[in-house]
Amino acid sequence: SKKNGRNQLNFFDPNMQRSMSKRASLDAELHRAIDHHEFVLYYQVQVDNWRQAIGAEALIRWQHPELGLITPNDFIYAAEENGLIVPIGLWVLETACQQILAWQDSPLTQHLVLAVNVSARQLKQTDFADQVLNLLKLYPIPTNQLKLEITEGMLLDDIDATIAIMRKLNAVGIRFALDDFGVGYSSLQYLKRLPIEQLKIDRSFVQDLEDDEHDRTIVRTIVSMAHSLGLDVIAEGVENELQLRLLRNKGCVHFQGYLFGKPVDIRQFNALLM
Ligand code: C2E
Ligand code: CA
Ligand code: CA
Ligand code: CA
Repeated sequence: SKKNGRNQLNFFDPNMQRSMSKRASLDAELHRAIDHHEFVLYYQVQVDNWRQAIGAEALIRWQHPELGLITPNDFIYAAEENGLIVPIGLWVLETACQQILAWQDSPLTQHLVLAVNVSARQLKQTDFADQVLNLLKLYPIPTNQLKLEITEGMLLDDIDATIAIMRKLNAVGIRFALDDFGVGYSSLQYLKRLPIEQLKIDRSFVQDLEDDEHDRTIVRTIVSMAHSLGLDVIAEGVENELQLRLLRNKGCVHFQGYLFGKPVDIRQFNALLM
């Protein structure tokens, strides 16, 4: 089972970061995983105020031949450190484009926006924009159906170069969301300058909404600030009806979380929409 799979994960224990030999074998495993196409994308639905699907977030999984399904927290950090996040991230983007193209075939899915996580290491590559533009030549998708999720912390250094890359992609219709909003180095100065169109309220604020008045205040403030700046807001990690009601009450109209659907493979995702 999945649980047993996770219990065997001592191989990927965070403590192993200290162990050179285990780390080297994780690097080797990641190389093999790329060559053997062991990665898969899972899709988690995003909904509007009427609980209608408006899109999905693509979340990577590693289908390990012995360990089973491995979640990104167990390998993305290592992939960022050793640079393999670049080829892995490109695979994620290509797979996402293929999926958006496939969705065009059905009226049930042809409007869906697919959000893809992009890591700092990837975005800061000088040819990142060109890589994406190349994919768009291969896969003629409506570009406004591809959204790139970035996190704040990663943008701090070299902000001008990053903005230039983002603008180049904005110019062809690709939009950006600022992920995990509120937990990073949130500088409102960056928020003002970054060409983003959506804020994702971090799950940590949603989690304790019921009991924590400060979290309610923070959420209300984020939503009203975002709307004043002309930004869309989505809350992540919505798990129950009470959280949903409180978020709506604060003006939030876009949601993602287990309440609407867990991340699932593409077959299950498409079935969910039927
Ligand atoms: P994230 O971008 O913040 O993604 C949201 C995470 O929250 C996902 O974990 C998702 O499964 C989980 N989640 C969604 N709804 C709920 C909920 O209602 N309750 C709870 N408790 N959790 C919820 P996941 O899939 O394990 O991904 C973890 C992180 O790995 C992501 O956090 C993202 O930072 C990173 N990641 C995932 N896919 C990619 C990728 O393709 N590229 C890169 N660079 N990073 C990725
Ligand atoms: Ca994300
Ligand atoms: Ca997030
Ligand atoms: Ca997160």
